[in-house]
Amino acid sequence: MAVFAEEIVHWLEAAERQVESRSRDVDRIVDQNQWKVIEAFQRHQVSDYHFAGSTGYAYNDRGREVLDLVYADVFGAEAALVRPHFASGTHTIATALFGVLRPGDELLYITGRPYDTLHKVIGAPGDGSGSLQDFGITYNETALLPTGEVDWNAVQANINERTKVIGIQRSRGYDWRDSFTVAQIGEMVERVKAIKSDLIVFVDNCYGEFTEEQEPTQVGADLIAGSLIKNPGGGLAETGGYICGRSQLVQLAAYRLTAPGIGGEVGAMLGTTRGIYQGLFLAPTIVGQAVKGSILAAALFERAGFESRPGWNDPRTDLIQAIAFTKSEQLIAFVQGIQRAAAVDGHVVPEPWDMPGYEHPVIMAAGTFIQGGSLELSADAPIRAPYIAYMQGGLTYSHVKFGLLTALQTMKDRNLL
Ligand SMILES: *Cc1c(COP(=O)(O)O)cnc(C)c1O
Repeated sequence: MAVFAEEIVHWLEAAERQVESRSRDVDRIVDQNQWKVIEAFQRHQVSDYHFAGSTGYAYNDRGREVLDLVYADVFGAEAALVRPHFASGTHTIATALFGVLRPGDELLYITGRPYDTLHKVIGAPGDGSGSLQDFGITYNETALLPTGEVDWNAVQANINERTKVIGIQRSRGYDWRDSFTVAQIGEMVERVKAIKSDLIVFVDNCYGEFTEEQEPTQVGADLIAGSLIKNPGGGLAETGGYICGRSQLVQLAAYRLTAPGIGGEVGAMLGTTRGIYQGLFLAPTIVGQAVKGSILAAALFERAGFESRPGWNDPRTDLIQAIAFTKSEQLIAFVQGIQRAAAVDGHVVPEPWDMPGYEHPVIMAAGTFIQGGSLELSADAPIRAPYIAYMQGGLTYSHVKFGLLTALQTMKDRNLL
């Protein structure tokens, strides 16, 4: 059995007492979402024959059709497209955007620079890659104000007759900013539609699902997308993504995923269907475990003298917990400690490396059952000042706790506390 220094155990005990009421808040959200998911399954009479795989064109795959209906229900949307054929979150988001945008249209992101992997999807005019801008769709973004709020003067000034889609990123991603709650997204929808009523509001919902009682589609978002190897896959979905929203827009995204005229009517699920259903069933509870782990991380590392964002008592709308260290050695010890606590690849020691597309070396802890699955406990950190580690996920609270203790112990062993 692992043994941790007395000082670390004291911090843990104090931190766990400190976050008790927050944990109860999370339990209430879990209950609401768990019951919402069960009721959606019941409404559509999900049965075990829905879990069978399909092959070839997979016409009339009832499991696939009902899965879309269940997702639409859970997200309070008219329609959904849930498929293992989405290779990643980026692919899912790109499919949604390419589905609804046409040459000459403009996409305006109002929550600052979007997530890294979307930069190449947006691309540049004439880049030859088939990016949005290469296809003659123009792009603009408004930076967030220093307070982290949307710059409404800039948004107002930048919406023009060609603006077709407004992009909102719910999660902080790997930026030291606050995430946007569902209520805040609802206000954004209202404000942009007051400026121009026919705008399509798209929300990148990655890392947000089930952290609150409502989803962006329940407060007016027209189209949202996310990854099944994050929150809604519940740790069981092996691959895939989902798009939810207004029927006509989801149809256009389906035409983009397969082909115009075909859309979501074909697509063999192979053996993935049961995992996607069962993952959705588990997702509210697993997300709750991960969120409790993040709250504990914030409280524990604040006690150890490090700044956390969000703080332990701040509202939460995604899985990501940022912790700021003062030295690169602390950052590396933290990430290596998280890896040491993994059930899978716990023997592997991550090192900083020059990842393609990143300006600074990056170190990542990822001992996961699903490759890159980030509802599982994982941590990433670019090695640059300020030394911020971003951790997320955890299929069980106890695993997150073990990871945090191992990280602190690794830091202590190296005289970094
Ligand atoms: C993870 C993520 C993406 C992209 O998903 P991938 O599966 O990594 O391609 C996009 N936006 C946000 C906010 C994310 O967290």
